[in-house]
Amino acid sequence: MMLESTGIPTKQDLESKMPTAERLAKGPVAVVECFQEIPCDPCYHSCKRGAISELIDINDIPYVDFDKCNGCALCISNCPGLAIFVLDQTYDEEYGVVKMPYEFLPRPVVGDEVAALNREGHEVCKGKIVEVRDGKVQDKTAVIGVAVPKEYLMEVRNIQVGGSK
Ligand code: SF4
Ligand code: SF4
Repeated sequence: MMLESTGIPTKQDLESKMPTAERLAKGPVAVVECFQEIPCDPCYHSCKRGAISELIDINDIPYVDFDKCNGCALCISNCPGLAIFVLDQTYDEEYGVVKMPYEFLPRPVVGDEVAALNREGHEVCKGKIVEVRDGKVQDKTAVIGVAVPKEYLMEVRNIQVGGSK
């Protein structure tokens, strides 16, 4: 399987985890791009709304109940695998927002223009930082919101501060 050799999920892996277009149109929602059966479950414990499936066997793969999830983004910084993102397709007419975990210093600041990277680390478009959440509770993992043209909402999963590589 592709994922095991490259760490990058296939289209089929991803399609099995994505909310419907109808749900995306309603507002922010979490996607958990975690496909490997690993002994880990902080995502389940971090969601106060019970939107992340309980991992009966700790090696199970988590699923999000998209109707229970309100896109609060609390789960993002609790995932050691950096596998959780919140997608907001309703940001404005042209742009959507991808909220993602970010562990590097210095942090970007709201208003910064950054290179928006896909899962393979390649730049796909420019993005603008619209949110930086860096609370004490969140240890070293901040939550960064980056606005990108809506057509890239499903692709952008990382940023490069200071523009292209
Ligand atoms: S975004 Fe909030 S409501 Fe949705 S799964 Fe994460 S913690 Fe739960
Ligand atoms: S916390 Fe992250 S890595 Fe661990 S099971 Fe949940 S989504 Fe996967």
